[in-house]
Amino acid sequence: MADPLLFNPRTYDPAHFDPETRRLLRATVDWFEDRGKRRLVEDYRSRAWLGDFLEFAARERLFATFLTPSAVAEDGNQRWDTARIAALNEILGFYGLDYWYAWQVTILGLGPVWQSGNAAARARAAGLLADGQVFAFGLSERAHGADIYSTDMLLEPDGDGGFVASGSKYYIGNGNAAGLVSVFGRRTDVEGPDGYVFFAADSRHPAYRLVKNVVDSSKYVSEFRLADYPVGPDDVLHTGRAAFDAALNTVNVGKFNLCTASIGICEHAMYEAVTHAQNRVLYGRPVTAFPHVRRELADAYVRLVGMKLFSDRAVDYFRSAGPEDRRYLLFNPMTKMKVTTEGEKVIDLMWDVIAAKGFEKDTYFAQAAVEIRSLPKLEGTVHVNLALILKFLRNHLLAPEGFEPVPTRLDAADDTFLFRQGPARGLGSIRFHDWRPAFDAYADVPNVARFREQADALCDLVRTAAPDEEQSRDLDLLLSVGQLFALVVHGQLILEQARATDLDRDVLDELFAVLVRDFSAHAVELHGKESATREQQDRALAAVRRPVTDAARSARVWERVAALSGTYEMAP
Ligand SMILES: Cc1cc2nc3c(=O)[nH]c(=O)nc-3n(C[C@H](O)[C@H](O)[C@H](O)COP(=O)(O)OP(=O)(O)OC[C@H]3O[C@@H](n4cnc5c(N)ncnc54)[C@H](O)[C@@H]3O)c2cc1C
Repeated sequence: MADPLLFNPRTYDPAHFDPETRRLLRATVDWFEDRGKRRLVEDYRSRAWLGDFLEFAARERLFATFLTPSAVAEDGNQRWDTARIAALNEILGFYGLDYWYAWQVTILGLGPVWQSGNAAARARAAGLLADGQVFAFGLSERAHGADIYSTDMLLEPDGDGGFVASGSKYYIGNGNAAGLVSVFGRRTDVEGPDGYVFFAADSRHPAYRLVKNVVDSSKYVSEFRLADYPVGPDDVLHTGRAAFDAALNTVNVGKFNLCTASIGICEHAMYEAVTHAQNRVLYGRPVTAFPHVRRELADAYVRLVGMKLFSDRAVDYFRSAGPEDRRYLLFNPMTKMKVTTEGEKVIDLMWDVIAAKGFEKDTYFAQAAVEIRSLPKLEGTVHVNLALILKFLRNHLLAPEGFEPVPTRLDAADDTFLFRQGPARGLGSIRFHDWRPAFDAYADVPNVARFREQADALCDLVRTAAPDEEQSRDLDLLLSVGQLFALVVHGQLILEQARATDLDRDVLDELFAVLVRDFSAHAVELHGKESATREQQDRALAAVRRPVTDAARSARVWERVAALSGTYEMAP
């Protein structure tokens, strides 16, 4: 029987969506299953371009339906609906990150366009989508990495309301094929932030020179150069500070997709790993008879369930956001850095168990083991996102405010706020609802209670021994505090979603046993940091706890994991 908590193509029926969404999601699953595993793996190994998949998507109007906001929609099925976008991320991650990437950078490329007041560019983008084209997001440059302030894409005024653009971009997905590339640059005649420009380029224009794919993959992660590329007024999407805000706000929308992609990767890999381990007999017994193997697979399973619960709940905050409720700006980088690094742990745990099998070229696992690594590094590194999360620490932990409860958001609404997020400033003043009630509701679950003690210990540390002025420049120390904070937020949204979905209590308890161990490990790390004061060291160690063990509970959770064996194998 299929596990109700994991995506399984055999039983997948997203009946909670409207009929056309349901049809498209199912059609996508069927397209991959019909194509089969041999082809999927071979295309990955031979770095084949994704032409067939994009043809399928164009035929079915998949991207056009899911990525056209209702303001420019041609039919009643088109809207920007984060819940169904998340569902598609999971499916694409499940079958291969390369497919997901072509769709993901299309989302990023559309971000500056849908935020723009330029009606001609919006109409052009809608037309290209309807035509089945993909998009690209040209922000990064070879020399500048995360430092997007220092762009060398230069726009010289042409005296006629437009510009001539010259410069190069690096790491730009779909740069080989995009009908529209949103490019970030700056004017040569205006100093400082007022000089920023976001404009739309066409990868087929003669002044657009594709240099190469900088990675060895089916993903086309391009380097391209613009040489005196003409940028007409209709191509200008944003100017000045609004262009910079459009860059950050686009990344806010885009980075949300990484969590569900990593969930899809882990799910497919888990079916393979558990099925292999359960059927591998050593010394006359299945490998899964080893206690350490059971523990590793059970940890992987509950971590994956935690990733799903967190991400599902984060969708609700994302879709319910508005100018007065910007809590998504915490939950969003959390999906990015926490859920995707959890994904790495899930794969590592399973790989330790299946060992040599995970290298075999006809497995999905071999690509999962490689691709899972990229998600924490794209759309800002773990450091950058953790540093961002730290801005919310005090208000979240110590100064909660009253908010109306946010309901589950699977409704067929258009998430219009995502394209009018406004200035990217003022993060330190964002307020949050109290995190404690989510824990109080499960105070009788032993490891939730244990974890709560650790969260309270973190609050004590922040209240009485917060990093001082000098330490506030020591990002190494701060990131270590950030890891503890991220765990509290992770636990909070997991519990909110557990309640909404009536999660099995054994699974929840086992999951929190893992989080208790994680918290202890990060607390010990903080204790060892070079600049930690005596009081910080003591308070860090005071947060170390042992999870509450329960052999009967662990055995019941193990039964769920073992039952995954044989429940899914991709069609050959
Ligand atoms: C496969 C792939 C696809 C990509 N696709 C695109 C795309 O389509 N469009 C696009 O524009 N870009 C794309 N990128 C670029 C990606 O977003 C960058 O890799 C990322 O922003 C980080 O830059 P970097 O890797 O050069 O690291 P660097 O910026 O060189 O960072 C070096 C180190 O410094 C740390 N660091 C930097 N700044 C800070 C800070 N403020 N706080 C704390 N630590 C910091 C980093 O965490 C890292 O450890 C892609 C990259 C890859 C690998």
